[in-house]
Amino acid sequence: MYHSISDAGGPTSIPPATFDWQMAALAASGVPVLSLDDLLAPGAPERAVAITFDDAFQDFARTAWPILSRHGFPATVYVPTGRVGGVEDWRGAAEPPRPLMDWATIRTLSAEGVTFGSHTVSHPDLLSLDREALVEELAASKAELEDRTGRAADHFAAPYGRDSAPVRAAVAEHYRSAAGTRLGSVGADADRYDLPRIEMFYYTRPGPWQRHLAGRGRAYLGLRRALRAVRDRTSRPWERA
Ligand SMILES: [Zn+2]
Repeated sequence: MYHSISDAGGPTSIPPATFDWQMAALAASGVPVLSLDDLLAPGAPERAVAITFDDAFQDFARTAWPILSRHGFPATVYVPTGRVGGVEDWRGAAEPPRPLMDWATIRTLSAEGVTFGSHTVSHPDLLSLDREALVEELAASKAELEDRTGRAADHFAAPYGRDSAPVRAAVAEHYRSAAGTRLGSVGADADRYDLPRIEMFYYTRPGPWQRHLAGRGRAYLGLRRALRAVRDRTSRPWERA
């Protein structure tokens, strides 16, 4: 899970040089990098990676995609469709706010093979919405993405990772998968509407990332998960990575 690839600072910005070596290490590891569709398809390899970006920041187009393309890595970007062409304006936004891609850029990248999924229309906390507003956030963002790109928008990520069983059930009526912010790897028995992810802010030093890719990252991930559980009891969702 990535957000911004920039020097903006904070847990949702990974510096470009760091992203560059994270991807180089991934390429060197030989672990296959798959699209989300391929990762979720029957018969996917047991060890594989799918790369996702929340929020559709402009720096995905400018900085991340050139690096991904060089390696031939597919990626999925989750778009808050009502904020396209603007800046982040939701709770937890960086200061100054980071710009988001516009529709022309999204259309171009879609044609180049980037998968675009929904991150709702307005980036709300889904648990704060009534049923009607929830369905609108899910359906309108999907419709606009499909209209603008001419491609299916089958994947969803909830802002702040905030969901519940009823939210997941509503998501399942519109999408083929949903990624959260729960820290972990996607197992064969994973709920495709509650996919865990690896927060790459925790892998900004080479050692932990290389060990993870070598299949020796379980202890570090467990430690991170434990620390995160403590933090989640004391922080508000938009203050989290
Ligand atoms: Zn977000």
